[in-house]
Amino acid sequence: MEYETVIGLEVHAQLLTQSKMFCACPADYATAPPNTRVCPVCLGLPGALPVAGLSAIESTIATGLALNCQIAEQTRFDRKNYFYPDLMKGYQISQFQMPIAHGGWLDLREGNRVGIIRVHLEEDTAKLYHRSDLATGQSYSLVDVNRAGVPLMEIVSDPDLRSPEEARQYLTNLRSILQFLGVSSGNMEEGAFRCDANVSIRPVGAQEFGVKVEIKNMNSFRAVYRALGYEVDRQRNVLEAGGKIEQETRGWDDSDGRTKGQRSKEFAHDYRYFPEPDLPPIEIKHEWVDRIRTDLPELPNQRRSRLVAQYGLSDYDAGLLTNSRPVADFYEDTVSLGANPKSVANWMSGELFRLLNSSGIDISQATTSPSDLAAIIELTASGKISQQAAKSVLEQNFRDGRDPNKLVEQLGLVQVSDEAALGSVIDEVVTSNPKSVADYRAGKRKALGFLVGQVMKATRGKANPKVVNGLLRERLDGSDIS
Ligand code: ADP
Ligand code: ZN
Ligand code: MG
Repeated sequence: MEYETVIGLEVHAQLLTQSKMFCACPADYATAPPNTRVCPVCLGLPGALPVAGLSAIESTIATGLALNCQIAEQTRFDRKNYFYPDLMKGYQISQFQMPIAHGGWLDLREGNRVGIIRVHLEEDTAKLYHRSDLATGQSYSLVDVNRAGVPLMEIVSDPDLRSPEEARQYLTNLRSILQFLGVSSGNMEEGAFRCDANVSIRPVGAQEFGVKVEIKNMNSFRAVYRALGYEVDRQRNVLEAGGKIEQETRGWDDSDGRTKGQRSKEFAHDYRYFPEPDLPPIEIKHEWVDRIRTDLPELPNQRRSRLVAQYGLSDYDAGLLTNSRPVADFYEDTVSLGANPKSVANWMSGELFRLLNSSGIDISQATTSPSDLAAIIELTASGKISQQAAKSVLEQNFRDGRDPNKLVEQLGLVQVSDEAALGSVIDEVVTSNPKSVADYRAGKRKALGFLVGQVMKATRGKANPKVVNGLLRERLDGSDIS
């Protein structure tokens, strides 16, 4: 039996507002000592009254517009009741029946359209730290209330995604939209961008969806991708063994590479939602929405089209460079320093991305700056260093931030174009590779590339490959010494 995968994602994004959602405490809680960004409201003291912050509402409207949603004319907050030590009041102020935005879509780069069910606003909870006492082995938990009340926007997709890969694309696209809007950092590792994934499978061609499982506790795009892959396999195995999928919540264990049952439907919460009595309903006037729409910044798709038009990039390259805002900014900053737009695109999508991937960091954390990359590109464009040497310079600069021009001197990488200086190396390579020389003369053009490579190797990448190429040809085509 062939199965089709069905995925819907619920994303929570912390908003970059000055203050928390319902009080005046600063929202940048992370660097503050525990429990220092608190007041009676976010501590949940009886009698304290919340006041809704406007900028979080505006950010949510902007997000709704960017996701092609309808914006509600009337919205309100509801209480979602449950008991957990991270929830100071015993309920979370959220939105249930009247979300700020609903009914939109997001187009994946590859063309598939994913429906957006709703975008609503709620408050984040306190943060728990689970510890165990080294001496006694007893476990205990610490509560940091700094995060409680930070505005959290929830974006719920339709079950329109058909593979873990599509889920990853959706997350990348969505995060990039939020970053371009400037409403969220989108940082998943720091918990500013979190994702719960709902997944089911059904026989290909079936009309009805299968029973879904909700996966929680994923801290990176990679974790989401892996967890979904694991879960799809698990569900298929259950069905193939004649079993039934139970509707449940499962937690992803990244070190184990597995999802584990957390709670099943029988223990599902009844949140007893009801309108928040301490906050009045909010009217969202057309003029307000229009003003926010007019003020929307350039979004990823627009920027991508502009990069194509302005710098002659391929659509594919422009897509890669607009995957995140810091990447797009890095690109245009480098170009604005005079570097060739196409070269910058190649260097970034090739070497720089490779270095970033292998060190697992974000471009905004990289030591290499746009001016470093521009300098490296200038060094190759002027022929001062070879392409190969430029890669070493970038690698070193990426590691310790040393100035590219200084690195060229310090590492002795100045390209040798001087024919006399290259002559003896070429002699040596020709004499020690008679087979390739014979191959070349017998018409195997590829052999020349090998010989050029040998000269490059012998000069540790310092020879100018163009000059080497010319000299070698002259030597091999001209006379018949071997
Ligand atoms: P719940 O009532 O359990 O919260 P919702 O209908 O609100 O479920 O949907 C929550 C998320 O689950 C949405 O992102 C939705 O797209 C997704 N979803 C719903 N049904 C399925 C399904 N059968 N398979 C996969 N995802 C689903
Ligand atoms: Zn507060
Ligand atoms: Mg739901």
